Amino acid sequence: MISSHPSIAKVAFTTNGYRLLKNAQKWRKAGITHINVSVDSLDPKCFHAITGHNRLQEVRQGIDAALDAGFETVKINVVLLKGVNDNEFPDYLTWAKNVPISIRFIELMQTGDNLEYFHKYHLSANVIRNQLLDRGWAQKKRSLNSGPAQEFTHIGYSGSIGLIAPYSKDFCKGCNRLRVTSAGDLRLCLFGEQGISLRPLLQNDNQKQDLKNLICDQLQFKRSSHFLDEGNTGITPHFASIGG
Ligand code: SF4
Repeated sequence: MISSHPSIAKVAFTTNGYRLLKNAQKWRKAGITHINVSVDSLDPKCFHAITGHNRLQEVRQGIDAALDAGFETVKINVVLLKGVNDNEFPDYLTWAKNVPISIRFIELMQTGDNLEYFHKYHLSANVIRNQLLDRGWAQKKRSLNSGPAQEFTHIGYSGSIGLIAPYSKDFCKGCNRLRVTSAGDLRLCLFGEQGISLRPLLQNDNQKQDLKNLICDQLQFKRSSHFLDEGNTGITPHFASIGG
């Protein structure tokens, strides 16, 4: 239904990939255009330690199936953690050598309940950025719709790299993201202080204009930045609570 709407050109879906092998073709046919898969390690043991599941092979097969199914982009999300999986950085690059995936290295962010974990495992995106530049990757000019990622390409690679560096200057400058939680709350930022409920205006089609007005009114409160540097993580206890 969403993909058949004439003004919607892009429908993206983020998944742990467990059912990708089975459903890639079906989801592509249903109109999903872009797919993001979390793969936090390429080492089966480490993957198991991070996710609690011994399913790396299945996920890798699912990604191949997604590439075959013809999604416009297949993004791989990776959070590199100091001393856990940061040694796998070269392995991800090797993967992107001949496979047209877009690997997203996402810097670990502090949330309400992970302060100790954050301090133990946080790896600055600058470290990754410098390694990419040292290896001949070039940063692309930011396009209007590229979102917060810094994009890198390399002439010898089929794939590309994106770097999500939330602690970098101007990270939020081009942010056009709004989120709706599974409970129907509108969130203006991953780390916002408030979430207004859209639920009462999602009950029937006659409420469409009121819903639009409410969302437009809320936009004025979207802030120009998060305040993570000051240790302010807003009302988000952890990302599972807001859907990533
Ligand atoms: S404003 Fe919030 S949601 Fe947007 S990029 Fe910054 S932290 Fe992320």
